[in-house]
Amino acid sequence: MQLRREYDVIIVGGGVTGASTARDCALRGLKTLLIERGDICDGASGRNHGLLHSGARYAVTDREGAEECIIENRILRRIASNCVEQTEGLFISLPEDGLDYQAGFIAKCREAGISAEAMDPAEALRLEPAVNPSIIGAVKVPDAAVDPFRLVDANILDAQRHGADILKFTAVASLIKDNGRVKGVRTAFGADIYASQVVLAAGIWTADIARAAGAQISMMPSKGSLIIFGHRVANMVINRCRKPANADILVPGDVVSVLGTTSDKVPMDTIDDMRATPAEVDLLLREGIQLVPSLERTRIIRAYAGVRPLVVADPAGDGRNVSRGIVLLDHEERDSIPGLITITGGKLTTARLMAEMATDLVCRKLGVSAACMTARLSLPGSEGRKPRFEDPGYAKAAIGRHGGEVSMMDFEKGREVICECESVTRAEIEYAVRHFGVRNVSDLRRHTRVGMGTCQGSFCVRKVAAVLSEILGSDAYPADVLVKEYLDERWKGMTPVLWGETLREAEYMIRTNGNEL
Ligand SMILES: Cc1cc2nc3c(=O)[nH]c(=O)nc-3n(C[C@H](O)[C@H](O)[C@H](O)COP(=O)(O)OP(=O)(O)OC[C@H]3O[C@@H](n4cnc5c(N)ncnc54)[C@H](O)[C@@H]3O)c2cc1C
Repeated sequence: MQLRREYDVIIVGGGVTGASTARDCALRGLKTLLIERGDICDGASGRNHGLLHSGARYAVTDREGAEECIIENRILRRIASNCVEQTEGLFISLPEDGLDYQAGFIAKCREAGISAEAMDPAEALRLEPAVNPSIIGAVKVPDAAVDPFRLVDANILDAQRHGADILKFTAVASLIKDNGRVKGVRTAFGADIYASQVVLAAGIWTADIARAAGAQISMMPSKGSLIIFGHRVANMVINRCRKPANADILVPGDVVSVLGTTSDKVPMDTIDDMRATPAEVDLLLREGIQLVPSLERTRIIRAYAGVRPLVVADPAGDGRNVSRGIVLLDHEERDSIPGLITITGGKLTTARLMAEMATDLVCRKLGVSAACMTARLSLPGSEGRKPRFEDPGYAKAAIGRHGGEVSMMDFEKGREVICECESVTRAEIEYAVRHFGVRNVSDLRRHTRVGMGTCQGSFCVRKVAAVLSEILGSDAYPADVLVKEYLDERWKGMTPVLWGETLREAEYMIRTNGNEL
């Protein structure tokens, strides 16, 4: 990729907020560069529940957030249909919860425009037999599951197709300032790139970058840990109908289930190495089996943790009382630093709206009048074009993951299945390398689900690494180094859940790939 020396706008951070902002800016005709220090989705965007909120979870405590969620929920179902699974959701009440909260909850949902249908226990159990049979009531809401990796990829692809440049594996070391105005960024490799406006969309890392440029943003890192189970134990999103607390959401995603989350304030200097701890796993399990008892007997694949980018209203809070709302800062007005904008807070569900707000501000600064089109135009893969193949068998899983994008994959030469659990073919791997600048097996996992299935890479990682090494060039990317990197990364998520079946499988993984661990 040939970078320009100067852009209209540089966006820092390749999570869902940065990717959505890059798409919006590019669609409005701005010369756009997105810079990400790692692979896209390296931050909170790759470490969350994957719940497309209906807003019901926030209806009682945050009316504005709830309204934003339901509006964006409807938009994403339409424009990102290939990333969203329309599961619907249940908020269940257990005997110890009582039904008082439920009555207020339904009223607040309806006030925010969220449909909330009360059900008696028998009806709810018929709809979702996995839930705790001792429920005393349930409410059906329009929650859904969203694949964050697909959503971010689709935004990145659309941004690129409308002229944006995407620079990955390149950290912004500092902002270039001239006479008090931000004029661009200096990368960790020492390159200076200029722009009329710089947008910080770097999640929890935003505060550090802004501070170095003279703007103080008080952010609180709120850690959340989650567990992935090896099966899909329920078909609907299941929430607990009570004031939000630990482990009260279970989200089905592809063939697995994700349980979470915790919410704990952590020191800023720990955010680059977030891991779930055994104590958090115990707590999640203890609470999670109240939602769905069969979780006690379900194999756990791994645990992981992310950090919410929350802006502090109450520095003494635990993270659940701090604002999860959208924060858009015009640093020219706020701190007398022209050329700098921050967009943070919010949710995966509301990222498109956050991008619209940030891009509106960029356009105002640049005197551009182009209107936002992101709520109307479908994302790549979700345009509704049905791919046609004589034998869709080999392409079926790829169609599920990439929708219409499969027409860009060369199945003539690449039908060989490389990862069997997730049916990832050589053609899909070549596509991911070509379109997303994949460099290692962990990157490939984010873009294809390689190694995310039942065997967690035990059977396929050597085969995957061999194919990737062949495509990337074995001198620069030797297969054994790729295997080691992948297993080290997987190992982090397995250590807090090493007992029972998971321990036996870890032992098998070590024996099969032992030399590399
Ligand atoms: C445990 C947990 C569960 C959640 N569950 C849900 C959910 O179910 N539904 C929902 O709607 N929301 C959920 N959220 C919230 C949601 O995940 C976040 O709000 C969202 O992902 C934030 O996206 P972002 O792009 O702003 O930040 P991030 O995804 O953190 O992206 C910031 C990016 O900036 C990059 N970066 C940092 N420093 C630099 C630098 N110097 N140079 C270049 N790049 C840099 C990072 O590498 C990172 O990729 C959850 C959050 C957590 C933590």
